[in-house]
Amino acid sequence: MGGFADRAQERAGVVVAIAALAGCLFALGMGSTSSAEEQGNQAPFRRVVIDAGHGGKDEGATATSGLLEKELVLDVSKRLGKLLEGRRFQVIQTREKDEFVPLEVRTSRANDARGDLFISIHANAATSRRARGIETYFVSLEASDAASRLVADRENRALGRSSAASPELDPFLALLGDMISTDHMVDSNTFAKLAQEELADLDAASSRGVKQAPFVVLMGVQMPAALIEIGFLSNDHDAGALARAAHRQRIAEALERAVVAFGKRYDARRGLAAAPR
Ligand SMILES: [Zn+2]
Repeated sequence: MGGFADRAQERAGVVVAIAALAGCLFALGMGSTSSAEEQGNQAPFRRVVIDAGHGGKDEGATATSGLLEKELVLDVSKRLGKLLEGRRFQVIQTREKDEFVPLEVRTSRANDARGDLFISIHANAATSRRARGIETYFVSLEASDAASRLVADRENRALGRSSAASPELDPFLALLGDMISTDHMVDSNTFAKLAQEELADLDAASSRGVKQAPFVVLMGVQMPAALIEIGFLSNDHDAGALARAAHRQRIAEALERAVVAFGKRYDARRGLAAAPR
């Protein structure tokens, strides 16, 4: 009874929520565009924003062993931050403890800090327990393939919405899609490739390559940005490896090497002398 009216009301609510969030993200993006551009053209590569996915009530993926994505990715983010600080990079973490941080707040923290690079760290999950390996994404409105779209749908659930497989999310993504910074697309792709190459060295058989998908956390970020899925918690092999501190350290070290290599290219492309690392 009243199904149609309820549905219409629900849709209206969704549209209002979409407009509010898109407006908020748009304002954040616009606010920092000029400063980020001014900064980017003059200053050498220095500030790295590390975004540990999920947190607090948003646990992310869970392994059968009980290992939680939110804990795992925070640990890797801290390890990476420590390594980069050791090389005199300035590191900004979007969260440093087990707390819920909305996606738009992560974006604004990165833009306010005028980061030179944004790295979002996540762990994957799939219905097939055989799926395993590491993949790196940079943002686009169109996903590279159906599986990539599903990964973005899952990661976008932190918005408090149901699965994005529903058509309601399309206008939402279309609105946010306007904010994707094409200026940084080449750099984002470059970093994603470097990161994936370094991570593939850890276990060549588990490299799933560089892909593109509509991750909300990467939209509106006014700097080169990539999202790394460091393994599948739904796969026993990956979950077992990720439970080991030594493996998490190797992932952090691989990402550190990718950041150093990216920083050199970033400065060279702008005719800047890179700081010694
Ligand atoms: Zn995640």
